[in-house]
Amino acid sequence: MVHYNTDDFQKKSRIFEIDLSEEQIQKFMDYYELLVEWNSFMNLTAITDFDEVILKHFVDSLAVFQVSAFREKVKSGEISLIDIGTGAGFPGIPLKIVFPDMKVTLLDSLNKRIKFLDTVIEKLDLKNIETVHGRAEDLAGKKDYREQYDFCVSRAVANLSTLTELCIPFVKNGGYFISYKSEKVKEELSAGKRAVEILGGNILDIFEYQLPDSDMSRNLLLIKKEKNTPKKYPRKAGTPAREPLS
Ligand code: SAM
Repeated sequence: MVHYNTDDFQKKSRIFEIDLSEEQIQKFMDYYELLVEWNSFMNLTAITDFDEVILKHFVDSLAVFQVSAFREKVKSGEISLIDIGTGAGFPGIPLKIVFPDMKVTLLDSLNKRIKFLDTVIEKLDLKNIETVHGRAEDLAGKKDYREQYDFCVSRAVANLSTLTELCIPFVKNGGYFISYKSEKVKEELSAGKRAVEILGGNILDIFEYQLPDSDMSRNLLLIKKEKNTPKKYPRKAGTPAREPLS
């Protein structure tokens, strides 16, 4: 069995006020091993170096704990969260490991990635979590998913105008969409603002943060859903990317 030095992971998570238990650390290490193993025969991530995965995938996924709307709700009890375009499980799987009471849905349009995620869920013995294979545009119209979630999160899937159309329809009125963004968020905001309003959202805040002990900047965009999304959205698969709302 490989022994990983996880002190640094603990330290970096504490910067976001998250104290990982031994059991949670073990789950993250099992996840890391599956990620590297499956990545040797399918495309899951460009990052496989241990320290880089810890920082850019695991710790970054947990950064949402800095957002008080999320922190307060997750502490107060059971909440539901959907991760749109989860890929190899980011940020959904790290969040599920740390907040086991949360009801989590992982959605992706690539079935190979869903198979990987099902294996991770089984190996890590995660409960109250489901994977869904499909495009967000198709699933968002179904009553089991539409306006059913307290939180929707998404990282590295599309620019804001397109992404809001894929994500906001899943959020309950009064819930939140939190978008993980790189440094270019301000440019995306000017183009995406109108789309957010059309879909029933209100941009409340942008949290800029550095990945711990690095000079890499990231942003979390906090959007509250204040009105139901008009029924005609999302438009059919592919349209939000081809003709972003503006
Ligand atoms: N969120 C992960 C991360 O941060 O590492 C994965 C990012 S990856 C660049 C984008 C993922 O979004 C891919 O796995 C892709 O299959 C998925 N995706 C893109 N468009 C989608 C859509 N319309 N509906 C569902 N999944 C989508």
